[in-house]
Amino acid sequence: MTDYFSVKNPATGDLIQEVKINTEEEINLALKKGHDSFKKWSKINAHERSRLLQKWSKKINENKEEIAKVMTMENGKPLSESLGEVDYSTSYIDWYAEEAKRIYGRTIPANTESKRILVTKQPIGLVAAITPWNFPAAMMARKAAPALAAGCTFIVKPAVETPLTTIKFIELAHEAGIPEGVIQYVNGRGSMIGDLFSNSDYVRKITFTGSTPVGKELIRNSADTIKHVTMELGGHAPLIVAADADIDYAVKQTVGTKFRNAGQTCVCANRLIVHESILDEFTEKFVAEVKKLKVGNGLDEGTTVGPIINEKGFNKIVAQIKDAKEKGAEVVLGDKYDANQEKGYFFVHPTVLKNVNTDMIIMHEETFGPVAPITSFKTIEEAVELANSTPYGLAAYFFTTDYRTGTYLHDHLDFGIIGWNDGGPSAAHAPFGGMKESGLGREGGIEGIEPYLETKYMSIGGI
Ligand code: NAP
Repeated sequence: MTDYFSVKNPATGDLIQEVKINTEEEINLALKKGHDSFKKWSKINAHERSRLLQKWSKKINENKEEIAKVMTMENGKPLSESLGEVDYSTSYIDWYAEEAKRIYGRTIPANTESKRILVTKQPIGLVAAITPWNFPAAMMARKAAPALAAGCTFIVKPAVETPLTTIKFIELAHEAGIPEGVIQYVNGRGSMIGDLFSNSDYVRKITFTGSTPVGKELIRNSADTIKHVTMELGGHAPLIVAADADIDYAVKQTVGTKFRNAGQTCVCANRLIVHESILDEFTEKFVAEVKKLKVGNGLDEGTTVGPIINEKGFNKIVAQIKDAKEKGAEVVLGDKYDANQEKGYFFVHPTVLKNVNTDMIIMHEETFGPVAPITSFKTIEEAVELANSTPYGLAAYFFTTDYRTGTYLHDHLDFGIIGWNDGGPSAAHAPFGGMKESGLGREGGIEGIEPYLETKYMSIGGI
């Protein structure tokens, strides 16, 4: 009997489409197909792979409006953000279409006259990816593009909440001429498919974006077959506003990084750490700006904050706000909800909390919702200590116009991505990724293709 799961619109609870759950047998066949296709794909020259990636990008662009609409329907984010995500996704495909042609080796001077040492790179094999619901296109494109550019084959399992964007992307890759066995998707529960990926001898690399606990499990399960792993995991970004910051600019940037995708982003500012001398002015201006946000269905004109993806995510946010209030936080704005359990939609209105302290759960756990907790600091050393007091190390932001404060913060913050007077640092040409429990490896930039390559060296002796 064929099993299906329902993809529902988180803004209304309405059914969008039933999607077939792949059986274990089908998934194993897909893995074999990916493995078999590698022999041919890895030998296609880099210029041809580059041309095919360019064609894929063009096809996605031609279908941009349709894809964005599907994304908003299954994920809930405002349509303008979905359109932005499609562009962001193709920027990775375009970048790696170029990088395909720049996979260089090197020669090393040998220690005897008669020898030569030659270093080359080769693709590692079949790559299996698992992606989350919060960026259904970009998280996949950021993995598929470098994998294909390197000459690897690729198979992805998207999140059950948002498989439709991924399916569309992969159909377009096939239309662009990338062979079916080279890029594939499978659908079903992560726990089952993750085990099949981890245990398969065909898979040479697991690349995962999602929560830290699942990432740890995938690393453990990949150990038996010594797979390569790239892990893009959770975050708990601090955002520091120094006494000398341009407050109006900092407020605008903070609203952008905090409330994009209703706060459901891994790089989302989770703790606002503001110098005590500007705390009142910053809070007042921030609240005034947050009040301009409009909560609603992402397909409606003017919506800037969509729904929370599901009830589990909603309950976590509500519990964090409740805990903060019980421990003395003051609600300056929000703590307002529009939820219907029966229909299956859950909205949280943008919420600002002040007087937060480190006893509160919100200061330690990822919120993944539109809630901004504000705390203050006296010295820059204190701000750094507060910012670094987390097992996460993905993104950090700071606002200062002072060169010494900026360079001090850059040097002392233990985060893989730093935004100095910049609430949106992510770009295809930069190495995105986290330190500590936020992950292993980088996606984007020249660094992003390395994890898909093996290094081989040959020593050529004299006869
Ligand atoms: P999640 O629960 O870890 O799910 C992510 C993906 O993993 C989904 O496809 C899920 O499948 C699958 N999965 C679940 N359990 C699994 C298991 N035992 N084995 C293998 N796969 C499994 O994370 P989420 O809550 O959906 O996503 C949000 C998290 O992603 C946040 O922590 C966020 O910070 C992180 N994130 C990180 C980055 C980054 O670049 N560092 C970017 C975006 C998001 P199902 O469909 O079955 O749920």
